[in-house]
Amino acid sequence: MTARIVGAVARHEIDHARSRIKAAHAQAAAQGRAHGRIAYGYRLSDDGRRVPDEVTAPIVQELAKRVLAGETMYSICNDLNDRGTPTPRGSKRWNTQKVRQMLLSPTYAGLRTHLGVLTPAVWEPLIDVEDHRVIRSILTDPRRKTTRGSAPVHLLSGIARCGVCGESMGRKKSHGGNSYGCLRNHCVYRRSEPVDLMVSEAIIARCEQMTGLQELVDDDVADAEREAARLRAQLDDFCDKAAAGELSAASLARIEAKLLPQIRAAERRAAVVVPPAVGELLGTNARVRWEQMPVIAKRTVVRNLVEITIDRGKPGPKFDPELIRLKWL
Ligand SMILES: [Zn+2]
Repeated sequence: MTARIVGAVARHEIDHARSRIKAAHAQAAAQGRAHGRIAYGYRLSDDGRRVPDEVTAPIVQELAKRVLAGETMYSICNDLNDRGTPTPRGSKRWNTQKVRQMLLSPTYAGLRTHLGVLTPAVWEPLIDVEDHRVIRSILTDPRRKTTRGSAPVHLLSGIARCGVCGESMGRKKSHGGNSYGCLRNHCVYRRSEPVDLMVSEAIIARCEQMTGLQELVDDDVADAEREAARLRAQLDDFCDKAAAGELSAASLARIEAKLLPQIRAAERRAAVVVPPAVGELLGTNARVRWEQMPVIAKRTVVRNLVEITIDRGKPGPKFDPELIRLKWL
């Protein structure tokens, strides 16, 4: 009896504490401050803010750079351990799971999650938001070998589509060597080597033609930003007029209804970004850059530039380029 009462009181206390902690987290989230344990790469400043740690922040940035360059987790961890680099709390040695978990965290991009929603945080990012997005897509690629894979992943596995049923095509071993095969219904098989070669050549040609696209995109983004700023200033003026009684509330509402969609559209245009892996390729050096690029980065490029469908053809060893359909995005 007594034990049950004690238990009930304790549960009540716990619930109470829980809701207090929850409220504190919500408040911290609203203000963009850190809650919980401080992440590797940061330290608490004297006034309680999360600031980059002089020793560990550069290590986080190094990890990001090496993953973006296509290095395997295994080789990164080996190197960190060999160098005796300080490890995150609770780990004696660097391991691939830890690095992966760290790099997937939005914390380093200056973002925080609260109840599943990402919001900008007040702390300084260690990794560029766009780089963070690319790293996430690299690390969450289902075809990625997370163990000691130094063997290259196939260029198009999981990317190319079956021309018969539309399902993903993946790597299949056949007597002639490696092939792409329809993963679900086994409709289509194609030797992978000539397909990879054809797609590579098409991408190189495409990127060589796109000289100056990066500058074009930059100009567009700058234009869109200026446009959004101009429209916002206009709206502010109308708000001031309404506040001064020179404009009725109904008129302001009408103006707002017209301007807001334009502002949003301009903001959306300003947010368009060419992924770094693609930006790197554009121009006359496309061939050299493509050849030096790790397969993982190449896959990011392919995904961003082209849709590939492989049709069924006559059986036989002859490669028919007509069966590979490329649709530029
Ligand atoms: Zn199929």
